[in-house]
Amino acid sequence: MALKHQAPLGTRDLLPAELARWQWAESQARGVLERYGYGEIRTPIFEDYELFARTSGESSDVVTKEMYRFTDLGDRDLALRPEGTASVARAYLERGLGGQARIHRLWYMGPMFRYSRPQKGRFRQFHQIGAEIIGSSAPGADVEMIALFVDLFEAWGFSNLTVAVNSVGTPGTRREYGERLREWLAPVASDLGGDSLQRLISNPLRVLDTKDPRDLELFDKLVRGGAPMPRMLDSLDSESREHWEQVLGGLDALGIAHRTDPGLVRGLDYYTRTAFEVHDPSLGAQSALGGGGRYDGLIEALGGPPTPGVGFSIGLDRTMMVLEQRAAGGPAVPGTIFVAAMEGTRAAAAQLTRELRREFRVDCDLESRAIGAQLKLADRAGATLVLLLGEEEWARGEVVIKSLRDGGQKVVPRAMLLEALRERLK
Ligand code: AMP
Repeated sequence: MALKHQAPLGTRDLLPAELARWQWAESQARGVLERYGYGEIRTPIFEDYELFARTSGESSDVVTKEMYRFTDLGDRDLALRPEGTASVARAYLERGLGGQARIHRLWYMGPMFRYSRPQKGRFRQFHQIGAEIIGSSAPGADVEMIALFVDLFEAWGFSNLTVAVNSVGTPGTRREYGERLREWLAPVASDLGGDSLQRLISNPLRVLDTKDPRDLELFDKLVRGGAPMPRMLDSLDSESREHWEQVLGGLDALGIAHRTDPGLVRGLDYYTRTAFEVHDPSLGAQSALGGGGRYDGLIEALGGPPTPGVGFSIGLDRTMMVLEQRAAGGPAVPGTIFVAAMEGTRAAAAQLTRELRREFRVDCDLESRAIGAQLKLADRAGATLVLLLGEEEWARGEVVIKSLRDGGQKVVPRAMLLEALRERLK
């Protein structure tokens, strides 16, 4: 049968069996975020196109190629959000949060949209969980962010994570560094891929973000030829250097495993100083599970007062792929009770089912099947216990509890039923 409709390319349905793991992961994350004292924020899924164009950088992939931009019936220029931070910063300004407290710790979760080429681990609608500290420029804020980032992964069962860290300096030192990169790349510039060549002119730092294997090979060639890649870390101004060293010291003090990756540049323009990322090699080419960094220029770029910030976002789709591969992180499935009725106890069974559902997970037959068929149904549904509502027993005020684990049966007075079930299922 040819289907008339399919989910749009790059999107998918999450079905109950998969969602059990997602919901478990989401509730683990909520627990960690709550204990860290972060407040949840929910912003619209679409915003003015300009909000993202201005904050992500006109030359970024997200803006030039990946935006779901549309005009609504009132002729407004809008876009589905490609990320969360710009919206959080917009809300921070619009709702006057800066006037309420000096430092805000916020988190969000939800779908993001990018028109990128779908492949393993890359979707057009994907899901992120992210956190921000707005209002503090202290290195301690960067360290808390990275600790929270790692603790989320640990709550999902990841262990031995190493965070890649770098400092991307300030816009001023970045310009200087860009010049050094241009000089370094000059001998191979004409062989770079189209995107990288474009970036070499508009924003040379972004060339380091390339995933094109031919570009990477050219970088290697330069290094092998005795020209080491210039490091942003060698171009830091003294304040950024001091900040960088304090962040590293803070991570050491907390025992957070990290390694400096001088080629780590974040895809978005508003980052300053600290940048960090984690990868999981099992994912192949799209291996970044999450990343973040400091964005001291963002709120000012939106017309607000100079306000520092630091944050991260984690891709839940990729994180879930890793958990699935490891068959890890499933929720503990609570025991299910199946209420099986006879002809004369169907109404009573419906009532009892509803009552028990206030406390237990309860399944029942919807189609008045014979008792044998109901038992098969209970077995297939993975029920732990069956309540047999035989007509005679029910009339005597009794229920039969049958265990599907060991086949054992026990007759219990109706008045004692809740107690007995609590006892069996706890
Ligand atoms: P970014 O906002 O680009 O720093 O992305 C943060 C995280 O979101 C990445 O590390 C990925 O895990 C995830 N992510 C970004 N883009 C996609 C995508 N198109 N599909 C799935 N996950 C994505």
